[in-house]
Amino acid sequence: MSALRQRLNQLSTAVEQSPVAIAITNTEGQIEYVNQRFVDVTGYSREELLGKTPAVIQSGETAPSVYRDLWETLKAGEVWRGEMLNRRKNGECYWEAEVITPVRDDQGQVVNYVAVKEDVTERRRQKRELELLATVFKTGQATMITDAEMRIERANQAFTDVTGYREDEVLGKTPKIFKSGRHGTAFYRRLWDSLFDTGHWQGEIWNRNKFGEVYPLWQSITAVYDDEGEIRHFVAVFHNIAERKRMENELERQATRDHLTGALNRRAFDDSLRQALEQAERDSMPFTLLLFDIDHFKQVNDRYGHDVGDAILKRLTERVASTLRTTDILCRWGGEEFTILLQGTCLKGAASFAERLRYQIAGARLNGLEVTISTGIAQYRPGDGMNSLLARADDALYRAKRMGRNCIVVEDE
Ligand code: GH3
Ligand code: MG
Ligand code: MG
Repeated sequence: MSALRQRLNQLSTAVEQSPVAIAITNTEGQIEYVNQRFVDVTGYSREELLGKTPAVIQSGETAPSVYRDLWETLKAGEVWRGEMLNRRKNGECYWEAEVITPVRDDQGQVVNYVAVKEDVTERRRQKRELELLATVFKTGQATMITDAEMRIERANQAFTDVTGYREDEVLGKTPKIFKSGRHGTAFYRRLWDSLFDTGHWQGEIWNRNKFGEVYPLWQSITAVYDDEGEIRHFVAVFHNIAERKRMENELERQATRDHLTGALNRRAFDDSLRQALEQAERDSMPFTLLLFDIDHFKQVNDRYGHDVGDAILKRLTERVASTLRTTDILCRWGGEEFTILLQGTCLKGAASFAERLRYQIAGARLNGLEVTISTGIAQYRPGDGMNSLLARADDALYRAKRMGRNCIVVEDE
């Protein structure tokens, strides 16, 4: 007898101190017993709970079908398992996972229900957060996740869309497989330095896709640390910027180039000339300005039509451009008049260049026609501005025309 009592004492202590909330109701659903944890979780005292039904702690937010299922199961004498949203005395809601078991007497009659309840609010929150992150990963920007040694662990659909590689083709590989060869070791050193120093790197990077094509990306890499501060993962998010760069280049081109010939336009040339003037002032580096104009071009237009005139302007530009050094700058000044800026060149060198050019053009057939040019040449002098320099070149060109065209004239020294 005392052994049985001891046993009962043990059991009641275990239930009372259990870390899960426990309630026992009669078959009407009235609460006959709650343990300490139940009191702690709900905030209601035993007096407030005993004799009431669990409706006291219902939030009103749980779907009616859950209660329907609960009662149908219990009425059938079976164990019910499920989750519901309950409310504490202070109004706060919390999710509970419950197991409700019918208890039978010796005749097999159900006499009680025992509910064992666990707060799963945090677990549900984490699950929802994981689902949210998984959705972002699945539907968001191209992303790959690597381990600390940069071996790829995960890659998403957008990653495949950008790189051409399926996830299973890259697992365990490192991003070396994307190397385009366009960046030197210094580039990668800076990237790694930044990643290890700040945990982050972002910038433009040229990669090679599965099909061998090289393309520019905007990539952002972030280190993920563990509790000890050790890097555990890297997360790289990127997108292809080839189209954006193409548009930028095109806009830049449209802003600085002449539509017909592709030579610099006047505005862009002004910038170059201003820079050359500043540099000449600073470093006393010589430069010269050539101004040339096609001879009797009006007649060409009149005789062969404007389209032929346009074609000649294009061919002429190609010709002239092919004679230039990379530091020389060609501009369509307007109509059939062009300027050339020759860096690091004095009048003598410019004159021989201009004479060579005159000779070449005169000997070539541009679009099947003979065309000649006249050229005026002026060199930068200390104190020159754009206008004074251009005026001397223009004056020299005027004299070249007066001298009978197809010739060069150097400004008076
Ligand atoms: P000059 O030897 O004195 O230079 O005689 P010119 O006929 O070339 O006379 P000028 O330089 O004054 O005439 C410019 C002509 O160039 C006027 C126009 O018919 C032609 N022209 C100017 N811009 C264009 C263009 O974009 N396309 C074509 N087809 N012709 C142009
Ligand atoms: Mg002309
Ligand atoms: Mg002209």
